[in-house]
Amino acid sequence: MSEPLTGIGVSPGLIAGPVARMAGPPALTGSSVLNVSEALSAVAFQLRSRAVGEAAEILEAQIMMVEDPQLLEEAERLTADGLDAARALDRAFSAHEKAMLELGGYFAERAADLEDLRNRAVAAALGQPMPGLPEPGHPYVLVADDLSPADTATLDSSVLAIVTQRGGPTSHTAILARARGIPAVVACPTAEVLADGELVAVDGSLGSVRQGVTEGEVTEIRDAFLATRARLLASRGPGRTADGHAVPLMSNIGSAADPVGEEGVGLFRTEFLFLDRRTAPSLEEQEAAYAAVFSRGGKVVVRTLDAGTDKPLPFLGLAEEENPALGIRGLRVDRVLPQVLDTQLDAIVRAAAAHPSAEVWVMAPMVTTWQEAAAFASRARERGVTRAGVMIEVPAAALMARELLEHVDFLSIGTNDLSQYTFAADRQHARLADLLDPWQPALLRLVGACARAGLEAGKPVGVCGEAAGDPRLAPVLVGLGVTSLSMSATSVPAVRESLAGVTLDQCRAAADGVLSDQLLVPQPADLLGPDAAGR
Ligand code: PEP
Ligand code: MG
Repeated sequence: MSEPLTGIGVSPGLIAGPVARMAGPPALTGSSVLNVSEALSAVAFQLRSRAVGEAAEILEAQIMMVEDPQLLEEAERLTADGLDAARALDRAFSAHEKAMLELGGYFAERAADLEDLRNRAVAAALGQPMPGLPEPGHPYVLVADDLSPADTATLDSSVLAIVTQRGGPTSHTAILARARGIPAVVACPTAEVLADGELVAVDGSLGSVRQGVTEGEVTEIRDAFLATRARLLASRGPGRTADGHAVPLMSNIGSAADPVGEEGVGLFRTEFLFLDRRTAPSLEEQEAAYAAVFSRGGKVVVRTLDAGTDKPLPFLGLAEEENPALGIRGLRVDRVLPQVLDTQLDAIVRAAAAHPSAEVWVMAPMVTTWQEAAAFASRARERGVTRAGVMIEVPAAALMARELLEHVDFLSIGTNDLSQYTFAADRQHARLADLLDPWQPALLRLVGACARAGLEAGKPVGVCGEAAGDPRLAPVLVGLGVTSLSMSATSVPAVRESLAGVTLDQCRAAADGVLSDQLLVPQPADLLGPDAAGR
């Protein structure tokens, strides 16, 4: 049997089925069958027909770009000069993309979406099938170079698994796949060999894709997958190890619309509420948005606005920076716009007071020094916050965890950014995905140092980055001394089951093994001994 193709497993589960590849960009050959305006309308129509449920907001932004009158005007001018519609659209989109890239910041980030729209418009003009998700008429393993926001937003239940050649552990493909419980492997360049209709088994835990699978195996693997999913969905109860060590399993949310597990919210990403805003949300508007989450009761860890780099907030009007990931982002925005944090803290405190059944904790993102942590905590307490903490996303803060804990009530480790800054590797960079792997011992040593500082201070230290939702890594994090894990609500059952299968001593042994070993992504059996192999 040939070696499996390998990438990075970003959404766990083993499933098998036939490959359906995403159609590539159209070839600019032949002459157009639609004019410019008809082609753009066809794209808008296609997007609109898919803009339902949670996809609607993402697709609405795409539709606005396609219906931009300037784009139409430019393409029509080119056809008036004698260019065929498809070529005119190609040029008009390129000019538009260049202009957005030059504007920088938020606009530059959106420029990548234009490429997807350009491909759709050119295909429509030429009468070719529009690129996008395949529709083979049966469940399939989706194989793509990468997925655009429009594609990920419209994935339906016929997608058994996702395999992409690019993308990293914190890419939108990874986050969405995990949220939907679809096994996924990203950063798998050799997936280019996979052909339409070929049967494969995708292991989203190990990050592998096995070819040469038989029909019989497909059925066997799929039955096992469905049985596991049914068992996990039926499982309930708090997170704890086999010997009863409690590890609350909380949920990461971006708004009141996101699902929450039994043990509350461990990360409320408040900036997600305001990503498309051009004007600042008022105190009352923020209060209402936070109250919608607090009204469900239970523990909620609110993160103050984490603006900048991968999450631009246009309403802040921050200046352009050469190197935004290393610039004014997260809590650092407070250096230039202090009123923003004050208003947000007031809105949180007012919403919390109106919903006493919620236990509201508040933390700041991108904290670097103990002085920043101390200043944030005293500011939060002065305004009425009862539990003030900070995120650990910068190695400097991890190294000084003990000093930070002298000033705050808790720490929450954001492994997505902590990986980015520890490994000097852009968290969105597909070619550096191996450096961003949460099993990297250097990352885990920093996590361990923070957890130890927490145990010494008697204060909680949780993990709320994507690493927390990996059922194989969870025992290692617990073994390092982490006191809670926060993840997308759909990841909770598998992590709960994983922890329930091991004792605290086994978790500690696994942590020691990983810290001392240079091995990446060790198998559960290597980590936890023979008992774990049958899990
Ligand atoms: C993190 O960095 O790990 C984190 C949880 O924050 P975000 O992904 O929102 O930057
Ligand atoms: Mg972060």
